Amino acid sequence: MIIGLPKEIKLQEYRVALIPAGCGMLVKQGHQVVVQAGAGEGSGFSNEEYADAGAKLVDSAAEVWAAAEMIVKVKEPLQEEFAYFKEGMVLFTYLHLAAAQQLAVALVEKRVTGIAYETIQLPNGSLPLLTPMSEVAGRMSVQEGAKYLEAFFGGRGVLLGGVPGVPPAEVVIIGGGIVGTNAAKMALGLGAEVVVLEKNAERMRYLDDVFQGRLRTLSSNPYNIANAVRKADLLIGAVLVPGARAPRLVSEEMVKTMKKGAVIVDVAVDQGGSIETIDRATTHEHPTYEKHGVIHYAVANMPGAVPRTSTLALTNATIDYVLQLASRGFSDAVANNAPLALGVNSHAGAITHASVAQAVGLPY
Ligand code: NAD
Repeated sequence: MIIGLPKEIKLQEYRVALIPAGCGMLVKQGHQVVVQAGAGEGSGFSNEEYADAGAKLVDSAAEVWAAAEMIVKVKEPLQEEFAYFKEGMVLFTYLHLAAAQQLAVALVEKRVTGIAYETIQLPNGSLPLLTPMSEVAGRMSVQEGAKYLEAFFGGRGVLLGGVPGVPPAEVVIIGGGIVGTNAAKMALGLGAEVVVLEKNAERMRYLDDVFQGRLRTLSSNPYNIANAVRKADLLIGAVLVPGARAPRLVSEEMVKTMKKGAVIVDVAVDQGGSIETIDRATTHEHPTYEKHGVIHYAVANMPGAVPRTSTLALTNATIDYVLQLASRGFSDAVANNAPLALGVNSHAGAITHASVAQAVGLPY
């Protein structure tokens, strides 16, 4: 199969969907990989590394799309890329079609097979191509929080770990899933006091077991949340209710009770935010704003700040699916891989994912 790797064109997107090692694996299996020059630059992979791995370098995105039977990308195609769509082509990427009606229509009209990273699902319900980005965002949330707690950035000038004779900072994490667990690991590693509020009792038992008493779990209810938020130096929003907007668990009144210069990092901002005073997403260029004396960090694409790590984490998770699609072809790969089959959002001129079809108002 001929696999195409275009350079990402979305603003501030520096990740790339295949690293040279992945290209090498495909080439070894007899496939051809066509790479747009500069595709790996933002993640620190040079054209020479792709060429050494056996890829064919071309100058333009048009050449990549024209040559490829399967395109691998990171972000959903933008309007200017729709013209490259051709019948029967496989597109493997984050699609987020529910929020991209025009793209859904273009995929259907051009009869492109769109496989979305975000709807690939394992039998236990987990989303293997979203997990790595949650791991990155969870770990980053503490790093960013620690930074904005510094006085220079307007924070209350507290070191997460304290020092001998001086107490550590209090890190409060709401939601103990992938993001929350990774945030807890980092905060504990830096010596902070950590409290995780969860509503799933099984998950609290798990956290209690794995962290062996090094953190406190608290049942998530308005009373416990209000108490924990008041004491927090760093508050991290990490909840998810699958398929729904993030629940607003921290009210504006609660934020008003926080210490001056405390920091909120709401990782759940991409699902609408879990804190009432997070009313908009921020960007890496302007990541924070202040409200009621508290610094709010609400970047919707946190992994974008660490593209090298994010690319490696993402491609670790995608490469097996890419290899299967390339070697077996679409129909056979999907027939033999149920999680991958759940990723198929469009095929042969139709939307093939029920909730996506409903969201974009197209027949299923
Ligand atoms: P997850 O499903 O692994 O964990 C979510 C946790 O929230 C679950 O354990 C669930 O029980 C818990 N929860 C649900 N309702 C709760 C409540 N009322 N109180 C306390 N806990 C509650 O999800 P995740 O992968 O950890 O993702 C968390 C959030 O981070 C999502 O909104 C996700 O979209 C977002 N995210 C954002 C970025 C970014 O760059 N901003 C990156 C990755 C993920």
